[in-house]
Amino acid sequence: MRIVQKYGGTSVGTIEKIKAIAEHLIKVRKEGNEVVVVVSAMGKMTDELIKKANEITNRPDRRELDMLMSTGEQQTIALLSMALKNMGHEAVSLTGSQAGIQTTGTHTKSKIKSINNERMEKHLADGKIVIVAGFQGMNEAGDITTLGRGGSDTSAVALAGALGCQCEIYTDVDGIYTCDPRVHKGAKKIDKISYEEMMEMSNLGAGVMEVRAVELGKKFGVPIYVGRSLGEKNGTYILEKEQIMEEKLITGLSINENVLMVNLQNLYNKPQKIANIFSALGKQDVNVDMISQSQSVEDMVDISFTCPATEEDLLDKAVEIIATQNPALKISKNQDLIKVSVVGVGMISHSGVAGKLFEIFGEKNIKFYQVTTSEISISFTMDKDRKAAAVEAISEAFNI
Ligand code: ADP
Ligand code: ASP
Ligand code: MG
Repeated sequence: MRIVQKYGGTSVGTIEKIKAIAEHLIKVRKEGNEVVVVVSAMGKMTDELIKKANEITNRPDRRELDMLMSTGEQQTIALLSMALKNMGHEAVSLTGSQAGIQTTGTHTKSKIKSINNERMEKHLADGKIVIVAGFQGMNEAGDITTLGRGGSDTSAVALAGALGCQCEIYTDVDGIYTCDPRVHKGAKKIDKISYEEMMEMSNLGAGVMEVRAVELGKKFGVPIYVGRSLGEKNGTYILEKEQIMEEKLITGLSINENVLMVNLQNLYNKPQKIANIFSALGKQDVNVDMISQSQSVEDMVDISFTCPATEEDLLDKAVEIIATQNPALKISKNQDLIKVSVVGVGMISHSGVAGKLFEIFGEKNIKFYQVTTSEISISFTMDKDRKAAAVEAISEAFNI
């Protein structure tokens, strides 16, 4: 059988852990499997590299940041390959580009465009364990790009798709939980979750799996396993919803702390004016998330929207253009927010979830600014300091 296994930052955090993974990989290989391993940077290496860049400027050039961040993963591939060779097994380390990963789009949040398997296939045919640097690829210009924080998951699932096999994600939790176990101690482990629900949970902030990874898993039919222990299979499977029998109203709860809310006051309520604002944001590649608009008073409206706090530099560029086009506009930003979301396919066939949430928030005096819904989720922006109260109340009300 062929397998892609991915080991995250904590799992490769020390040389001892890298050696333990090497031993495990040799065992898996000897059982007759062809193995491709995707690794992340060791421990908090990516954060440390970003910190270094920020010692030079708090707005580092995104191309250079990619050049810097991608070195983290390259250290791990070399060390793991050395460990394997030292244990007498043939292995080869490959950067994203050497593994054939072609990317496109903005630096630091690029997307995988295509994968050319040729080199990996050749090494596998030679019996080697192939070790690929996660989180990176090469764009049309021949520059190294990264795939956005947590992007090694995406590398792994994309490679599994290209190589036609399953993908195992090893991390520092033993599976997907109803809520981040670091935030809510009572969170419960989920045995099986559908691609749709996992995509929604990831998109709404569950950092355990990168959303693009789950999307690609669904697109290419890659079964994904998420777990911790080497060799044990008591984690979570991400599958098609038809393969899951149990149906709950709410499957999980996600929190997104990477939220920046922008308020635009005193805007002419003309569709073209509003369109121009969002097209300026689009041109700078700002990912606008939630939008709300006040009642029009004497032809003037207030609009607020959220975007990832990590895109503040792109946002500021757009805001500069927006301000020149709308001199009377008052623009302010709020960083002290989070987005709390509940997710569940059960919502498709059951109503009343939103009503229940409004009731709970009323009872607990939790103020929210924006609400959005999808077929399988409801999200609220609220003040950061209400996180614990909201998580507690929702978990209790929906028994998750
Ligand atoms: P890795 O470095 O292995 O990619 P991450 O830190 O990206 O690991 O993801 C694992 C972390 O995701 C866990 O430590 C956990 O705190 C967090 N997490 C967030 N939401 C969930 C969830 N619903 N279930 C499990 N873990 C979650
Ligand atoms: N090292 C990268 C990060 O910290 C990619 C990853 O871990 O998936 O975001
Ligand atoms: Mg991760």
